[in-house]
Amino acid sequence: MKKAAFALCSVLLALSGIAGTLTMATEATFPPYEFLCGQEIVGIDVEICRAVARKLGKAFRAENMDFDSVIPAVISGKADIAASGITITEDRRKNVDFSIPYVTTGIVVIYRKADPYKNADQLKGKKIGVQSGTTSDAYVLETLKQEPERFKSTPEACAAMLAGRCEFVIADIDPAKNCVQGETSLALSGFLSSESYAVAVAKGRQDLLAAVNDTIAAVKADGRLAKWIADYTAESGRLKEKGSASAASVQSPSWLATAWQSLRDDFYLCFLKPAGDGTPRGMYLVRGLGVTLHVALAAILLGLFIGFIVAVVRASHDKYGYFPFLSTVSKIYLTIIRGTPMVVQLLITYYIILRTVDSKVLIAILAFGINSGAYQAEILRAGILSIDPGQMEAGRALGLSYWRTMLKIILPQAVRNVLPALGNEFIVLMKDTSIVGYIALIDLAKGGDIIRSQTYSVYLPYLTVAAIYLVLVMTFTWLLGKLERHLRNTGADPVRNDS
Ligand code: GLN
Repeated sequence: MKKAAFALCSVLLALSGIAGTLTMATEATFPPYEFLCGQEIVGIDVEICRAVARKLGKAFRAENMDFDSVIPAVISGKADIAASGITITEDRRKNVDFSIPYVTTGIVVIYRKADPYKNADQLKGKKIGVQSGTTSDAYVLETLKQEPERFKSTPEACAAMLAGRCEFVIADIDPAKNCVQGETSLALSGFLSSESYAVAVAKGRQDLLAAVNDTIAAVKADGRLAKWIADYTAESGRLKEKGSASAASVQSPSWLATAWQSLRDDFYLCFLKPAGDGTPRGMYLVRGLGVTLHVALAAILLGLFIGFIVAVVRASHDKYGYFPFLSTVSKIYLTIIRGTPMVVQLLITYYIILRTVDSKVLIAILAFGINSGAYQAEILRAGILSIDPGQMEAGRALGLSYWRTMLKIILPQAVRNVLPALGNEFIVLMKDTSIVGYIALIDLAKGGDIIRSQTYSVYLPYLTVAAIYLVLVMTFTWLLGKLERHLRNTGADPVRNDS
């Protein structure tokens, strides 16, 4: 009893997030302030926040998310502090409190040397790539009075520019420098604005704000900040360097040999080159695949469990008028889940319902399982309704209870009848999990995206990710076909056995 109470308390404590951890919200494609070094988020902002945690005597954790979610994360309490190269603006000041500034910087234009940038007039009416929700976004909207092309990160905007999808990119100078490093066709303009970065905390958290201000003042005064800036600028630059698969950069006359060499170089860069923590970049895909399988399989099982219950309740109500209350609850569940988009359900689960739950895998499993349960329920209900009512009557006449007849006679036949439709739902679910990147979970799709953002190479990461999904789905379809044949040929069909 005591043990159970203790376990319950620990779970509640963990859920309520008061376990003494300072959580930092950030967007880790912004070198040298925050970037991924293997699986770990590192950078100047991370060091500042870690120093704050140390001052408060708390453990420290950095959460990676989209830039436009960083400030909402502190407002909603999902994170304690936000540090993501955040510029102090009057609009943002209405929603959060800012610390004293720690860096003065600004935004610049990234342009193609073939189409040099001269002045802001030249930008009017052009396709300009920006990171969504940033001051560059606001500059295009408010100063140039036009809609920018919005991307999730500056590297993504640059990749789009290199692929010819936009003509200019506007970004903060440091990540912009990182983007043009090694890209001989690109260059940077002078500053378009002057901005200051600060750490954001929720309004009213005066103690926390004071601790952040003291820390920033201290790291500025004792030279730590200057050292972090120098170290992380060098480190992020090293990560960007393009390696080569072989020392022999062949000067081959044949285009085939050149293409082969460039494919090998690209392969090395995307999958074999260490991502910063010493492990090859390809590990993003391997670990991501693990997450995809984990989330998809657990969600399928949870969905099946929910689906069975809801289907039996609904079918029993439709046929025999049983469970009126549960049937109404099930109908409301089906309406809400099937009436709203999956990605919105995932975000609501993450930001609102399970706000204090740390495990993103658990959040994803619950969101996808609950969503899939609704679809599986309807498929299974159709299966149950397809079974002749005489089967239930026969079972009852033999003295079996309602539930036993349902479990032993009706459901096995129902499942066999709807197996192809269920299989289809599993496949859709498996591919749908590729949106977990919205809650910053690194699955297979997001793993490919990270490789793309670090290497600026689009073909290999995306095509490889697509190929892995294809293999997964084909394997699954094959297994399902085997199961179907097995059920057809064995005694899983009471009707056939009886006849
Ligand atoms: N400094 C810019 C802003 O605050 C961009 C920050 C970022 O992209 N991480 O809007």
